Amino acid sequence: MATLNMTTPDVPTDREGSPRLTLSEAASLSERLAAAEAEEILVWAMETFGRHLVVASSFGAEDMVLMDLALRLDPLARVFTIDTGRLPEETYAVMDAARERWGVALEVHAPRPEALEPLVRERGMNLFYRSVADRKACCHVRKVEPLQRALAGAGAWATGLRRGQAVTRSALPVVQVDYAHGGIVKLNPLAAWSEEDVWRAIRERDLPYNALHDRGFPSIGCAPCTRAVQPGEDVRAGRWWWETPETKECGLHVGDGTGSTAA
Ligand code: SF4
Repeated sequence: MATLNMTTPDVPTDREGSPRLTLSEAASLSERLAAAEAEEILVWAMETFGRHLVVASSFGAEDMVLMDLALRLDPLARVFTIDTGRLPEETYAVMDAARERWGVALEVHAPRPEALEPLVRERGMNLFYRSVADRKACCHVRKVEPLQRALAGAGAWATGLRRGQAVTRSALPVVQVDYAHGGIVKLNPLAAWSEEDVWRAIRERDLPYNALHDRGFPSIGCAPCTRAVQPGEDVRAGRWWWETPETKECGLHVGDGTGSTAA
């Protein structure tokens, strides 16, 4: 197993005893970790944050690689996902494949019924097609609020975001301070990976992956809000395709210049 002697130097801790970073400390760590392997970054995070580190997964290709790296380093690594209630069957299938592959006890967070029920009662089941405001209301109840609960008490979360996924992610650092979630640390161990790197790792490790990737879905979210893309189209062109690009934000990755990701 890779080891990296990069414990966080004398940074204050929060109520739970988890290290907090200032913006300049995060920037400095990002520089130091820029050339590190994803595995080394995860080792550093596991040593620094212990059980306060959570790994986010929406079961896209990058997430399968991230889960494989994390769960091989620590079979008890905490992995969470958001079940919006509108995910494609293929995503539920790959969730179960992950449980079988790694024996992971997924932390699944679903929308609160007391928020969801009035929303669909008042605005309908498929409100997202009616207006950007309705779509964002749905994303808030089904994704954003459950994510807040998933990260409650966490000191750091790891994502499968990559710089190559979108222009808005071209400057994605390895280490960020996530002010949208209480100033915890956000780690992007695959930031420097290319799409080819991801698929090479999937093939080499024979990892399970979402069957929709083989049917023209490079980015997979909720079933009614995701469609296949044509060759040459942007990888995120199939997400909320009826909206203009500037509104395509679900609120999961905000305040850090990274845009949004599948969930
Ligand atoms: S992606 Fe679509 S279905 Fe999913 S939470 Fe957002 S608006 Fe609702």
